[in-house]
Amino acid sequence: MRSAEIIVVGGGPAGSSAAQRLKQAGADVLLLDKAHFPRLKLCAGWITPEVVADLQLDIGAYPHRFLSFRRLHWHMKGLSLPVPCVQHSIRRFEFDAWLLERSGVEVIEHSVKSVRQEGETYVLDDAFRCRYLIGAGGTACPVYRSLFREQLPRVRELQTVTLELEFPFEWRDADCHLYFFEHGLPGYSWYVPKARGWLNVGVGGMATRLKQRGEDIWLHWQHLAARLRRQFGIELPEEPSGYSYYLRGPVSSGRIGNAFLTGDAAGLATRDLCEGIGPAIRSGQRAAAAILAGGAFELADFTGASLGGGWITRWMDWAFTRGAHELAGARAIA
Ligand SMILES: Cc1cc2nc3c(=O)[nH]c(=O)nc-3n(C[C@H](O)[C@H](O)[C@H](O)COP(=O)(O)OP(=O)(O)OC[C@H]3O[C@@H](n4cnc5c(N)ncnc54)[C@H](O)[C@@H]3O)c2cc1C
Repeated sequence: MRSAEIIVVGGGPAGSSAAQRLKQAGADVLLLDKAHFPRLKLCAGWITPEVVADLQLDIGAYPHRFLSFRRLHWHMKGLSLPVPCVQHSIRRFEFDAWLLERSGVEVIEHSVKSVRQEGETYVLDDAFRCRYLIGAGGTACPVYRSLFREQLPRVRELQTVTLELEFPFEWRDADCHLYFFEHGLPGYSWYVPKARGWLNVGVGGMATRLKQRGEDIWLHWQHLAARLRRQFGIELPEEPSGYSYYLRGPVSSGRIGNAFLTGDAAGLATRDLCEGIGPAIRSGQRAAAAILAGGAFELADFTGASLGGGWITRWMDWAFTRGAHELAGARAIA
């Protein structure tokens, strides 16, 4: 049995951010991920200036694709609004592997199946033992499944379903485009260019509301494909892949004993733009800080808002779910 003081399950932004802080402080930390990095992660790869700051990312020194948008185009109900902005895109395939390597942590390729508590320690698959455990395994995180499911039940009304494709494409429009509520979609679709001839397109919507409408996300993928052909002359080269995750629910603390839950495993993505990279990084760093300082691990101040928490945020939140999540126990966005 391999022992470490701290084990992190999952090497996405949440796990690598936690691992980096712990490693920097000289902690005995080990990270397990079922995938071999670099690995595919479905994600538009849009990141905010806050992400850049939290990671202390020196953009000039980042060795992979990094594109800054001058404008973000909001399309809604036939209206188009170009909003000047400073936002960025990366490819998750490159970004996550780079972050993980930067963390300096030892990574073992291992798919965690079971987690149990044994006295003061946690035992994973009868193969690993630790005193502190960080769950950063995304939606299907085994730490969530084994230790947190009862305390932090997920709100089905906050589940998103997505389809996405990232491919080499010599785009001419270097801005980001978001299409809200097209054809009644309870969510939005996107066109996100990446540096040096790559493009990410996708569609995401609230699972429960799609079901109520008798639709599935593939229908909206067809609408997006038609729009991309019309607007940009894009012929999609292959079928997309799908992934599902939860938006910010009723989570106030992601800690039970010495086990911590971060990122998508805790359901922290924002309720207005479904942004999950920033909350994943911040929660990972915060879990590390709580372990190092022996302090509290609070998530209550994660607002669930990318757009500042004002009326736009509240309206988007309502428009995605029609308030059904509040009836189901998730609080309104503060
Ligand atoms: C289509 C789509 C588009 C998105 N676009 C954006 C965007 O543009 N901007 C944004 O901010 N957010 C976006 N998000 C959300 C964002 O991708 C996630 O919120 C973010 O990746 C969460 O990071 P994480 O570290 O918690 O989990 P992940 O990035 O999912 O990492 C989890 C890791 O855990 C590993 N793992 C899982 N199970 C096990 C196991 N049993 N044992 C060992 N390892 C395991 C996985 O291999 C993975 O490497 C998008 C999501 C989707 C699906």
